[in-house]
Amino acid sequence: MAVLVIIPAAGSGTRFGGPIPKQFQPLAGKPLVQYVVERFLMTEVARVVVAIPEPLLVTIKQSPGDRVLFVGGGETRLQSVINAMKAAGVDYDIVAVHDAVRPFFRIDTLARLIEAAREYGGAVPALPVSDTIHATRDGRLSATVDRSNLVAAQTPQCFRFEVLRDSLKLAEDEKFDATDEAGLAAHYGYHVQVLPGDPFNIKITRPEDLALAEAHFEEWSNA
Ligand code: C5P
Repeated sequence: MAVLVIIPAAGSGTRFGGPIPKQFQPLAGKPLVQYVVERFLMTEVARVVVAIPEPLLVTIKQSPGDRVLFVGGGETRLQSVINAMKAAGVDYDIVAVHDAVRPFFRIDTLARLIEAAREYGGAVPALPVSDTIHATRDGRLSATVDRSNLVAAQTPQCFRFEVLRDSLKLAEDEKFDATDEAGLAAHYGYHVQVLPGDPFNIKITRPEDLALAEAHFEEWSNA
C-alpha cells in the first residue's frame, strides 16, 4: 500500500512573530519542518511532498526521483495542500496530511490512522475539549458553546487518495476554504472517523510552545 505524505509548510506564521516562520524555527538543532520530514522518512511512506514559501524553492536542489519533493505553497493552507497534491502524481492508495509544526506525532498513531482511512475513507486524531468554550462579541462573552460533542483536531489526517483528491477538486471549483482536510472531506459528505489524539502531539504556534517542546524533547520525541 503506497502512502503519500503532504506537509503544508508555507505559512507566514504571524502568531509566532519575528522574521522566521514557526515551521523553520529550530527544535533540537534542526528546523521543525526538517525534523518532521525526517520522522516520516523513518517509516515506509512512498513519498513526502513539502509545500514551502514559493521564494524558498530556488534554494533547494531536487531531482525527479527524490523521495522528498518540495513545491511552492499557496495563499491558504488548503491551497498549499492542493499544490502538493498536484505535484505528487497519482500512484498512491492513502494520503496523510501533517502540519509542519507538530513534531511529536507518533508513528504507531499514523499506522492506526492509515488503517482507519482504508476502512472509512478518512481518519483524524482528535482530543476532547476540556476548557469551557465561549463565544465573544466586542470583548464580552456572548454565549457558551456546548462542548460535549466538540473535539480539537490534530494531524496526521489520513484519507483514501481519491477522497482527498475529490474533496480538494470540489473545494477548488467552489472556492470553499477549510482550516483542515478532515473538515473538508466531512463537508463533502465523506466518513471521517475520529481516533484518539495524543496530548503530546502539540502544534507549535507561539514561542511558548517551542520552549515547551525544547524542555520536553527527550520525553516526547520517542516515536
Ligand atoms: O496557520 P496554521 O497554524 O493553521 O498552519 C498550519 C500549517 O499549515 C503550518 O505548517 C503552516 O506552515 C501551513 N500553511 C501553509 N500554507 C499557508 C498557511 C499555512 O502551508 N498558506
